Amino acid sequence: MTRRYDVVVVGGGPAGSTCARLCAEQGLSVCLVEEHGAAGIPVQCAGLLSLNAFSECEVSMAPVLATVRGARVVSSLGPVLGFDAGTPKAHVVDRALLDREMLGRAARAGAEVRMKTSFADRRDHRILTRGVNGKEEISFGVLVAADGARSRVARVMGMPRPPVFLAGLQADLLHGMDQSVVEIHPDASPEFFGWAIPLGPGRARVGLAGRSGTMESFRRFISLFLEDSHEAFVHLVSGTIPLGTMARTYGDRALFVGDAAGMAKPTSGGGVYTGVRAARHAARVIGEAVASGDLSDRMLSRYEKAWKEDFGRELDQGMRLFRMRQQLSAEDVARVISALADPSIVDDIIRLGDMDRPGRLVGRLLTRPSLYPLLGILIRSGVRQIYE
Ligand SMILES: Cc1cc2nc3c(=O)[nH]c(=O)nc-3n(C[C@H](O)[C@H](O)[C@H](O)COP(=O)(O)OP(=O)(O)OC[C@H]3O[C@@H](n4cnc5c(N)ncnc54)[C@H](O)[C@@H]3O)c2cc1C
Repeated sequence: MTRRYDVVVVGGGPAGSTCARLCAEQGLSVCLVEEHGAAGIPVQCAGLLSLNAFSECEVSMAPVLATVRGARVVSSLGPVLGFDAGTPKAHVVDRALLDREMLGRAARAGAEVRMKTSFADRRDHRILTRGVNGKEEISFGVLVAADGARSRVARVMGMPRPPVFLAGLQADLLHGMDQSVVEIHPDASPEFFGWAIPLGPGRARVGLAGRSGTMESFRRFISLFLEDSHEAFVHLVSGTIPLGTMARTYGDRALFVGDAAGMAKPTSGGGVYTGVRAARHAARVIGEAVASGDLSDRMLSRYEKAWKEDFGRELDQGMRLFRMRQQLSAEDVARVISALADPSIVDDIIRLGDMDRPGRLVGRLLTRPSLYPLLGILIRSGVRQIYE
């Protein structure tokens, strides 16, 4: 006989595990299916989380590999913008450990976790799975699609997909770098940027994301870090970053959270913070829906309203900045970096900078008279529309 759960979650990443845990903590019956045999593997993340994003995950310090206080933004034409806040700003984490801990907490809260079990299809209020127990059917009150960028749930349900998918490539290297800052290299990928992140003494994570020609850009970029014959590649990661949230994130008893809904931040590609925040909103609305016996679209639409109020504006502004970035040449980027390197602006960056909510800093920078000479570049590339 098909077992029925109040909530079935597809995907055991940060968004799925958080939603499953919070639903189970409310006393709901929860089943989570995860296609892989271990949470967080294969790793598809640089692991850079702001302190806020990390605390949203509610895990121990065990996954933390390094803690950074600032950044260096490096133009290939010379200018560098560097800042050190003097206090911790972000953690670099081992995503496999982080995901494992988050999924473990969901299981301890009472969610039934089925590993090596993939969502294959949906029929009415049942999902069909394939996995270690062969083919199964699981019945749900509410279905949570937390199955990542290529969400099969979304495809099976014919949901409109996010408009942009970036390809990301990165490698962990035996390469020494300053352990207190992350490096951003805009010119490594003209459609996004490249990064170098400290992983502890003598190790760095170097990668980039882009829309096309990503492998060639990655080969060129990584060669900059492999000049020394002692330095070597130890781990290669590839993955997809969806940008531009899907037009509707609920419907027909299903909610879409995290990458499955395209919630990665268009300014950084980071999706753990928004995914976990969305999962919290989803769990709250599911609790209300199950308690009232009202699983209608009208009730579930409260989820979309809640996440939009929380970070929807940041994602919209981020998408405009992303489109603007597509128009900037290396010369434009160099001019922007030079202008931002002014000490009083660096001060604003340290004071107002927030990886998860960059809107406030961007708004402040646009009011700085010393940045007016940049307006020509920005207007040409569409910056007027950021605050539409
Ligand atoms: C190269 C790269 C670097 C990144 N760096 C950062 C960063 O530094 N900081 C940051 O915040 N974000 C980063 N991101 C984005 C981040 O990894 C994602 O936004 C985040 O993992 C989204 O969490 P999620 O729970 O929504 O989805 P995921 O973490 O993708 O989890 C989805 C889960 O669903 C499972 N699944 C998929 N299909 C099925 C199915 N059919 N049945 C059952 N299970 C299924 C998967 O196995 C997976 O466990 C990066 C992404 C890439 C590609």
